[in-house]
Amino acid sequence: MNQSQQTIEPWLRGIIRCPQCKGEVVDASAETTADSGADSGAEAAVTELRCDTCHLAYPVEGGVPVLLVDLARRTDG
Ligand SMILES: [Zn+2]
Repeated sequence: MNQSQQTIEPWLRGIIRCPQCKGEVVDASAETTADSGADSGAEAAVTELRCDTCHLAYPVEGGVPVLLVDLARRTDG
């Protein structure tokens, strides 16, 4: 089985929480990213984990969520 590396493991996905509010985060595919050079070949790959409480989006790099507030992108702007 050779699945996309951008897919977050279910067991990992289940324990991920926002480091700021300890709330749940939701999967978000980067359809509005302004970053250049993003591969669009993957199918609905999760590239961000979004916290609607804090209005922050945490990046996912190679399927590994980067749960650092300092690296999160604000989504309320
Ligand atoms: Zn939060």
